Formats: sequence, structure tokens, C-alpha cells
Amino acid sequence: MTDQVTPEEDKIKRIENFMCLAVHEIKTPLTVLKAYLQMHLMEIQRTGMERFVPVLEKMDFQLNKIQTLLCDLQDIAQHRPEDIYCLMNKFDACELVSRCAESSAAANPGFTIELEVPDYALIVRADQERIEQVVHNLLNNAVKYSGQNKYIKLSCTKVDDHMRIAVTDKGKGIPPQERERIFQQFYRIQCPDTKIQPGLGLGLFICLEIINKHKGQIGVNSVEGEGSEFWFWLP
Ligand code: ADP
Repeated sequence: MTDQVTPEEDKIKRIENFMCLAVHEIKTPLTVLKAYLQMHLMEIQRTGMERFVPVLEKMDFQLNKIQTLLCDLQDIAQHRPEDIYCLMNKFDACELVSRCAESSAAANPGFTIELEVPDYALIVRADQERIEQVVHNLLNNAVKYSGQNKYIKLSCTKVDDHMRIAVTDKGKGIPPQERERIFQQFYRIQCPDTKIQPGLGLGLFICLEIINKHKGQIGVNSVEGEGSEFWFWLP
């Protein structure tokens, strides 16, 4: 028996394909634009024309915003929850978080990223790429919503039979009534701090879907005004 595709499903598929293609087509010139901008920035710094630096940095900041939004759009098009497929294999979770901490520190020079991992391997069976996506998402959020206090802690521990990864920031924190809602699709807290940051309210929803596929759990502990700890565990 062949699967019948309804006109509605066909339409959704075509829109998704178009979005993937459009995002890809916009990303390519954007990457080139960013590379030229970085070249100019270095040249201007080298030749001492310091007065142009802030303008170029502002342009770079705006390009980063567009890139973040494009990544979110790509996520909408590619990762409908039912499409998230996890390929399980064994790997050392400590190695994974160390790698994430390193790349996040390199991408966010103003931040201190403290790493807390045991000095032995924590072997888990999971989809390494997907778990890396979750850790990066939580780290990116910590960077976006940290405000003035640019200290982030990333930890990986073994608790009973579970492996627990947590990202702690010293940002504004999350009000109790919002702590479940932020994991819903397209949900963003309505406050000025969120508005100035790019995003579509998708990152945590995708994290939740990935962790659910692993039969794990994800959540947040937070004290308003002091910061948040986003955690997840895997069996
Ligand atoms: P986005 O960041 O694109 O808005 P997310 O799904 O990643 O989407 O996050 C949903 C909302 O949760 C954010 O808009 C923000 O209001 C809030 N949030 C996420 N992470 C943090 C954090 N570390 N500190 C404070 N608020 C956060």
C-alpha cells in the first residue's frame, strides 16, 4: 500500500522545502559579508583608523542577529518534533561539554565560562550531535540573557544512574509562572531584555523535544535577580 499524501501535507512540505532553500540562499552571502567585514575591521585596526571601528562592530552585531534568526527559521523548517530523529551511539559526555565550553568561550570573548567535569569519562548512549545542539542552545541563551554579569558555569555530573548537564548563569532569572511556558513553541517572556535579543522562542522547545526523544528530562531552577540553572539529564 502506498502512503497517500494529502494536498495539505503536500503544501506544508513545499513551504518547508522553500524555507530551507531560502534560508540557505540568504546564509551564503551573509557569511561572505561577515568575512569582508572582519577583513575591514582588521585592516582599520592595523592602519589606526580607530574611529571607524565602532560602526563596523555595530554592523557585525546586526549581522549576528540575522544569522541567529536564520538558524531559528532553519530549525522551524527542518525540525518538526515528529521529524527529530536520534541516532544513538556511545560517547564521553565530559568530552562533549568541554568542547562546547571551548567553542562558546572562543565565540564570546567577554564571558568567563567555568567548566566542572569529573576527571574520568562519563559514557552515555545518546545522539551526540543532538546533545551538542542542546548544550549549545543553553549556552547561547545564557550568553543572550546574562545582562551585565558575564559568568557562566557548565557542569556534567553523574547522579545515580543518570548523567546530568547544567548551564548556570547570573542573569535576571525567570519568574516562577514562566518556568514551564518557556519550553513551549514560540514562547518568549515579554520583557525588554528578551526584546533586544534575537530569537523566535524555539530553542528551548527543540531542546525539550530532543531530551524527550532520549527519555530524559529538562528543566530550570531560577532565583529572580540572581540567575538560572538550566539542566537536563539522560538515562
Ligand atoms: P529565544 O531565545 O529564541 O527567545 P528560547 O526558546 O531559547 O527562545 O527561550 C525562550 C525564552 O526563555 C526566551 O525568550 C527568554 O525570555 C527565556 N530564557 C531562555 N533562557 C534564559 C536564560 N538563561 N535567562 C533568562 N531567560 C531565559
